[in-house]
Amino acid sequence: MTLSNTWHSNKQVVLKRLGLSEIAPTWNQRLSKLPVPFLTKIKWYLDIHDKNTCVVGEAHGFDSHYANDCNKCDKFSLDLESQFMKNQFRELEDTKVQFVHHWNEQHRDVTYSFIGKRRMLRWYDSFLRVDDYIQTTK
Ligand SMILES: [Zn+2]
Repeated sequence: MTLSNTWHSNKQVVLKRLGLSEIAPTWNQRLSKLPVPFLTKIKWYLDIHDKNTCVVGEAHGFDSHYANDCNKCDKFSLDLESQFMKNQFRELEDTKVQFVHHWNEQHRDVTYSFIGKRRMLRWYDSFLRVDDYIQTTK
């Protein structure tokens, strides 16, 4: 069952648990590729360091309001950045699981609100911030 089918189906159906591939698709792909070459890591670091474009920022629609609105999300953002930089893959995996759990508990409606209008970060071109930084997926 796809996400949109779940959304449009009978409201009594228990909505399926969201995975990171639905919550933050760009970062789900990136984190699954770790470790990556140093230059790629540096480019991704620029994104994960930015509260708008980090894992948690993508989940919130490339918006950093969570930094003020949700202490847990803010903490996840800091932890994921730190673990990414230090190549702490096991810890990063744990944090990812905890974040997905928190998201399903607190913010899943946010993901449903993005159905059909989800944007993705460019894969490698994090430096192109001025024009066409965010790529729209069809
Ligand atoms: Zn939160």
